[in-house]
Amino acid sequence: MSGTLDAWVGRTIGVGRLPSRDDLDAYQLRCLNETLAHARAASLFYRSQAGWPGRDHLADIKDLVRFPLTTPANLSRGDPSLIALPLRDAARLVTIPTSGTSGPQKRLFFTEADIEATIAYFEHGMATITRPGGHVAIAFPAERPDSVGDLLMRGLTRLGAVPMTLPVSGSVDALVGALRDMQPAAIAGMPVTLGAAARRMATDGGPPLAIETALVSADSVSPSFKAALAAIWGTEVFEHWGMTETGYGGALACHAHDGLHIRETDLYVEIVDADTGGLLPAGDEGEIVITTLRRRGLPLIRYRTGDRGSIAESPCRCGSLLRRLRLGGRIGEPIVLGRERHLPREILDDAIFAVDGVIDFSVALRSAGHPRLAIGLVADHPEVADNVRAALLHHPLLGPVLQSPEVDIAVEITSDSKLTLCRKRKVLEAQGEG
Ligand SMILES: [Zn+2]
Repeated sequence: MSGTLDAWVGRTIGVGRLPSRDDLDAYQLRCLNETLAHARAASLFYRSQAGWPGRDHLADIKDLVRFPLTTPANLSRGDPSLIALPLRDAARLVTIPTSGTSGPQKRLFFTEADIEATIAYFEHGMATITRPGGHVAIAFPAERPDSVGDLLMRGLTRLGAVPMTLPVSGSVDALVGALRDMQPAAIAGMPVTLGAAARRMATDGGPPLAIETALVSADSVSPSFKAALAAIWGTEVFEHWGMTETGYGGALACHAHDGLHIRETDLYVEIVDADTGGLLPAGDEGEIVITTLRRRGLPLIRYRTGDRGSIAESPCRCGSLLRRLRLGGRIGEPIVLGRERHLPREILDDAIFAVDGVIDFSVALRSAGHPRLAIGLVADHPEVADNVRAALLHHPLLGPVLQSPEVDIAVEITSDSKLTLCRKRKVLEAQGEG
């Protein structure tokens, strides 16, 4: 089993030995100063962004706080472009669909060097969960060149592991059948995908499967999800945090499972107060803000990710010098029912998935008129609906809110065909009054 990513970090930042924290701090400051100078010289957006200090050069990395924050809205069409290179040098242009129906699309683009940096991070990061020769099932879409699944496959191949793609656009039974054929030692995917496969396998009467490790990314990971994978497959779950804006890779858990080590070769992370934008000290939870360190095509400077987290203050038990992120949820995620009663989404997700037999679920909220929370379950046994209802009504935090006579709660089994294997869990807003 591999140790930490530190030796690779040392090679990447040009230190011919295991790096010290001072080495990494000096590298980050040098990269930040280059990024600021490049952005001012080459990007229409940064050149015209209000509030830039007269001098770009930082004597101390903490002085980055003097620069203005950027937002997802700045990445949408219509703003002056953040792009800092001629378009002909772009390897790939990525348009990210936004979750709402009316929100603008965010546009990012990556150069060959940006993509190469991500493949190298995946190669060395995946050494945490597999080894040369290890069979790794990929439950991310991987058909499109330079998609996250494709880059993960390329990183694993360089590591000497054997990546194999799973069918993630069909039924959960097709997914489960492919997994039984592959017998992988490790698996990578979104929580919804892996959770559905594991729970279906637990109840379908087929042969059991052992999967040693899982890399789980792109959505919040609940304790009940980790417990289900441990019970059904015997899996150790490693969380990863990332988004297209981080160049897919962002931060990765180690064997200590006490926060996620940040990809500090490419990202400088700050935590700010989500309301005021003010910088928060280590240990305080707020919005995660990233600055890219090596990206030339479309550098992001103090970019608000919309994700919540804090930076761990103490060193990790694994011995790595890389700082750690403790993740919270998305900003502004709690579900509000009726008169300001809040249901934290993560707690609701955790409570539903904790019930044995839940393969997948959706949550729809109608907040107009008489509030109604409708939970659709994919499950093999009808009594699972009653069990979920009972678990929610007796939950110490959710129960008092849901037992109110002003709130309707409906739990029903829906068909398997409504399952979408690769997605983040979202609360749907239902229309109409009750
Ligand atoms: Zn660690």
